Amino acid sequence: MRNFQLLILATTLSCSVFTGCGSADSTLISETSLTSSTSGQQDVNQDKSQTNEDKKKSASKKDDRKMTQPKYNTLTRLERDVLEKKGTERAFAGAYTDTKIAGTYICRRCNAALYDSKSKFHSDCGWPSFDDEIKGGVDRLPDADGYRIEIVCHNCEGHLGHVFLGERFTEKNTRHCVNSVSMKLIQAGRTMPEVIKSPRTLAEEKRKAEAEAEAEAAAKAKSALKDSDQN
Ligand SMILES: [Zn+2]
Repeated sequence: MRNFQLLILATTLSCSVFTGCGSADSTLISETSLTSSTSGQQDVNQDKSQTNEDKKKSASKKDDRKMTQPKYNTLTRLERDVLEKKGTERAFAGAYTDTKIAGTYICRRCNAALYDSKSKFHSDCGWPSFDDEIKGGVDRLPDADGYRIEIVCHNCEGHLGHVFLGERFTEKNTRHCVNSVSMKLIQAGRTMPEVIKSPRTLAEEKRKAEAEAEAEAAAKAKSALKDSDQN
């Protein structure tokens, strides 16, 4: 009996330590589908009550959305399920789980750089593991399951996996558990494909350029003031 209790305890512990990008995600897929079907129903109801003028406005908004939405890389069904619907590839089945080739892992949907192969380590969890991301490449979000931390591509917001802290695999004490299908490895020395920038990234770049121009103008004004004081 005691052995049986120990077995249950060990199983529970190993599941919590090696919670990959697992089971909660399938719930997430059904929640996502449910949400979209509910909102679809609401759209239908709203359309019925719209005047012709409202319909024209809404059509033009849809056109704007089409124009601003970039054309990302074409994805397979599995890649779409993971990157766009927050699904998870099977453990130990991904192409990059045990890869040790030097290079840069980029987002399969938008080509943004996510991880350097130098940050990759073997965790035996069944998915590629990294203890650091390329600066600015990955965002952390509270997962819908209420306890994990989801990681997404900063540029296109495609789902990558989850990040786990405090497991002491490496000195950085961080494990990015990433689906292979969310990434593409560009081997060292090869040309990196151009990033397909999202409206969010373009807006960030615009704000940064404006802030830099403002700072430059302020510095010029300050220096002009200094010159006139000296004269
Ligand atoms: Zn991306």
